[in-house]
Amino acid sequence: MQRSVAMLALVGTLAARSALAQPAPAQPALRPWARAELARLSAGPSPLAMPRYDLAVSLADAGRTVTVDETLRYTNTTGAPLREVILRVYANATRPQAPGVQRPVGPALRFVRGSCEGLACVVSAPSDAVLAVQLASPLAPGAAVSIRTRLEGTLLEIAAQRTGLLAQGLESLSSLGASHEDPGDYGLFATGEGIVSLANFYPVLARRNAAGWERSDHGSVGDFGTDDLADIEARFELPEGYTLATSGVTVRVEGVGGRRRHWVSATAVRDFAALCGATLQHESRRVGEVEVRAYYLPAHRAAGRQVLDTAARALATFEQRFGPYPYTDLDVVEAPLVGGAGGVEFSGLVTVASMFYRPPNEALSTSNQGGLAGALGGLLGGQANHTLDAMLPAMLEFVTAHEVAHQYWHGLVGSDSRDHPFIDESLAQWSAAYYIEARHGAARAQHESNQQVRSNYQLMRLMGHPDGPVDRPAGRFDGSLSYAGLVYGKGPFYYSALRREAGDAAFFRALRRYVDTYRFRTAPSQGFVDVLSAEVPARAARFQALRRRWLEEAHGDDDLGRPDLAEMLGPMLGQNGQLDPETRQALQQLGPLLQQLGGAQGAGAGPDLGGILRALGGGAPRPSQGSGSHGMGDLAPMLQDLLQGLQ
Ligand SMILES: [Zn+2]
Repeated sequence: MQRSVAMLALVGTLAARSALAQPAPAQPALRPWARAELARLSAGPSPLAMPRYDLAVSLADAGRTVTVDETLRYTNTTGAPLREVILRVYANATRPQAPGVQRPVGPALRFVRGSCEGLACVVSAPSDAVLAVQLASPLAPGAAVSIRTRLEGTLLEIAAQRTGLLAQGLESLSSLGASHEDPGDYGLFATGEGIVSLANFYPVLARRNAAGWERSDHGSVGDFGTDDLADIEARFELPEGYTLATSGVTVRVEGVGGRRRHWVSATAVRDFAALCGATLQHESRRVGEVEVRAYYLPAHRAAGRQVLDTAARALATFEQRFGPYPYTDLDVVEAPLVGGAGGVEFSGLVTVASMFYRPPNEALSTSNQGGLAGALGGLLGGQANHTLDAMLPAMLEFVTAHEVAHQYWHGLVGSDSRDHPFIDESLAQWSAAYYIEARHGAARAQHESNQQVRSNYQLMRLMGHPDGPVDRPAGRFDGSLSYAGLVYGKGPFYYSALRREAGDAAFFRALRRYVDTYRFRTAPSQGFVDVLSAEVPARAARFQALRRRWLEEAHGDDDLGRPDLAEMLGPMLGQNGQLDPETRQALQQLGPLLQQLGGAQGAGAGPDLGGILRALGGGAPRPSQGSGSHGMGDLAPMLQDLLQGLQ
């Protein structure tokens, strides 16, 4: 007896020692079910082969400059020997362009040096956004190489007044005149109001097509970046006191010489972003196994808490409908986004634009933006504050839900965001409207669908662009208006049409099966309709007919209604949605001007500004700062500035 007790004690001690000796769990950013699922997929007939990026990121100069040392472990999965590996630096694929914004000289990130381990190579930068790795001997299929690079970057500084709602609205308008070869910049690699945004900031493997590596992006609209899964281990050296939000999880923090080193691990992510700052605050809420964390500036606490509430409820709604979310946490971070972007998705982290966090009176403030913004701010005056009081929270809720939906559409279920951008964007829009329905009821969902989805289509039509196919490459849209109108404005209603045809039970079963089928994989453009057809074979022909009608043909005006500016702006400008006859007439006369601004018709002729101003009853331009009621005549200086900005 005694002896066996001694034996037990010995066994117990050994067991305790071996438990102590166990390392921290591998893949700490993944939930247990996702770890098991990845292991299952990796053992399957077409195993996942994820590249691994080791990043050492050092922020200096009060958050204005950054050094990025990367070691990329790449296994050749192309099935053929490779003489060359192409990396892309997507922060350099865009250029800041906005009225009054100086374009920086040179690229955002500068290539310093590169080398390889395991093979001799030469790394060069044939252009700002491309790194070419020439291998001395071919990399055999299945063989691996480690590529080391160093980049040094200077972050674009975004002025606070540029991130207001009105300023961003005007930037969107001005960007309509932007050339196709020069994509706009959304402030992804930038700093503003003490928030440092590091996205697209490290070299990633280029996309591949039948001809090999892709060195350019074919057009300027849509999301840039890779769509493939990767593992990331990152080390950030930040000033003491900085708060850091990233994709993945922070596994360790240590002090080094007056700075802090943060160790971050992210597994099976399609991209990786980090935001940090000395003043960022955060608050979190648990949704089952997942910790949802909202980061925001102290002055924007009310909006930050609304974002947390929305993100947590949206995640719960989506988990119930689409299945479990794969990561242990989800960060929702305020960011100084510009170029009209409302939010941007990354795996495990989404950003929401500062413009939605500001109180209404600040949303309209655009000091230093020039006469245009001042004129519009004055024109809208106090009445607009009242309207914005209701609009801003609704926009913030919708944008947040859209970005959280991307955790499924583009995150968990991958898709080709360059060739078929509708796959994730239209479904994220539909999902945001569905979240509104689940939380606030069908009537409110209908209202928000009109205001935040259908209006994209109607604005496109009002500005003179034709209806057309939704499913086409990002580079084949006629500019950002058409892209927004068709992908964000019309495409989401394709899913509404399928839902009506299939009935709720079959439709939601199919959505769940769609996730089960393509989880951690890449869905083809027909992926969902094929899954739905398999779910209800008797209606398959009808589903395919809806797909053609909504994604390939042009029935938008019949299906979504003819656009009417007065109807669209009624909820914003009128009392209870009603406009007085004078304003209604003025808005109708604005239509032709919008068409010319949209650049679709009469290009080169130039708008008849004088005629339109006379129609609007505008007199001589006069400064219209301050608040109070203003007539439509105040549009005169606004339109003049706008047209000057466009020419
Ligand atoms: Zn989106």
